[in-house]
Parts: sequence; C-alpha cells; structure tokens
Amino acid sequence: MKQQLIGSHISTTGGLHNAIERGTSIGATAIQIFTKSNRQWFEKKISDADATLFKTAWANSPIKEIVVHAAYLINLGSSKPEVEEKSIKALTDEINRCAQLGIRYLVLHPGSHLGAGVEPCLKQIARNLDTVFEQAAPDVMVLLETMAGQGSNVGFAFEQLHTMRTLTRHKTRVGFCVDTCHIFSAGYNINTEASWQETITAIDKVLGLEHVKAFHVNDSQTACGSNKDRHAPLGEGLIGLATFKHMMLDQHVAHIPKILETPSDPAMLLWAKEIALLNSFIQ
Ligand SMILES: [Zn+2]
Ligand SMILES: [Zn+2]
Repeated sequence: MKQQLIGSHISTTGGLHNAIERGTSIGATAIQIFTKSNRQWFEKKISDADATLFKTAWANSPIKEIVVHAAYLINLGSSKPEVEEKSIKALTDEINRCAQLGIRYLVLHPGSHLGAGVEPCLKQIARNLDTVFEQAAPDVMVLLETMAGQGSNVGFAFEQLHTMRTLTRHKTRVGFCVDTCHIFSAGYNINTEASWQETITAIDKVLGLEHVKAFHVNDSQTACGSNKDRHAPLGEGLIGLATFKHMMLDQHVAHIPKILETPSDPAMLLWAKEIALLNSFIQ
C-alpha cells in the first residue's frame, strides 16, 4: 500500500532545525513542532538565518509535512478582554512564524468559555479568527483541534467545530485536526472497526474529511465519554491497538498526516517503535 505520512511531536531544543534531524532519526515523514515556548505568550522573532537553516534541513530530509501547534495560553473565546486581546496578537504572531518557516498548518485549541456559555464563545472565536486572518500572513491554515471536553473547552462536538468554521469569513483558512484520544474521551466511540467507521462517517458528514489536514494519534487512559485528556501509548489505553490498524487501513484517511503525541521517553524510543508499528500495518 502507499506510504503514509507518520511522525510525532518533536522537540526543537537547541534550534528549530534540530527537529528535522530528530524526526528523521525515528523514521518520521511528518512532524509537529512548537516554534516558540508553548507556555509563553511571545518570544523573540525567528532570525532569517535560523529560518533558512530550518528550511534547508527540511528540504534535504524525508519529512514531507510539518505542522505547528500553537501555544496553550491562547484563548480566542476568553470572556476576559485582556486575554482575548493578547490571544489575537499571539495567534497572529504564530501564523507569521509559520509563514516564515514555509509551514502551512497551525493547530489551535479553539478556546474555552470560562462560564460564559458555548454558543457565544463559538461566535467570538470565529470573529477573532477573522481579525487574525485580516492582519496575519496569508497561506497558513488554522486547524481547529477536536477537544476532549475538559473544563469549559469548546470544540468537543464536531458540530461546534463546524459552526466556528461556518461563521468565519475566511473559510479557506480554517481546517481541522482530529485527535483520536480527544474524540474518544469526548464520547465518540472508536474502539471497534464498526465504531471507527461510524465516527469517520460522522466527521465526513459534519466537518468534511477534505478539511481534516492532520490527525493526532493517541490512545486514551480514560473511558469513552470521560471528557479527560490523558494520552496513552498505542495499545496501552482504552481505544486499543486494533483501532490504529483500522485507521492505517482506512483509505478515507490514508492521505492525512498522522502525528503521535503519546508519552514518549526523551530518547524517543516509544515513538520510533510506534511509527514502525503503524507502518507495519500497511506493508
Ligand atoms: Zn493539541
Ligand atoms: Zn490531548
């Protein structure tokens, strides 16, 4: 069967370009990175020299797709005006950093309403995405991630994600990232072949599979419907290894890059093993 793009979230310690070599060393053909600390609002600009180093290393590697994950602090749906303001600036900055590195996809946790209610929050997020798109570099797509439904996070139902995209004026710049642990925790069962197919059909119907540009491939420590975000190594959680085999064999999603966020060790041995395992399902 055709090769698929598989990899994991890779550290950029020591310089952005180091992620390319690290990813290559574990057999990755797609990776995810942070372009700045994920727990800080802002960081110094990427120098032209560093951007060139990164792009050259990437071009000379087997890595075909790189997605960026935005900082966790960003909350476009916050009911606190100062957080909302800062989030708009920070997301604009994240998009500009992606553009500088030649990266086309930025994964974003849509936001949380902090008690203000889901519906107004979805509207606010869509409005703020428009503000961001109108001031940020073009050609970078924001991928709204499916959430587990912890706390007051929105985006745990496919309909909510669809609503946010529908409400923006810049739909071509909004796609989705499906996290297998999160959708399972949110209540979409995927632990049998039949339920996997049912959930993929639901994603296609509500979101459109053509708008899903990345998968986060994680097993779940907690049960379907638990609304908890606890990643487990593949086959060591309640989703189970068989589902990840169905995923690899499912031609509807074969073209979508698959990124592991399982709890690997610093030497990335777990990821190397899981990448090989996923590849073995299609050989
Ligand atoms: Zn995420
Ligand atoms: Zn998660």
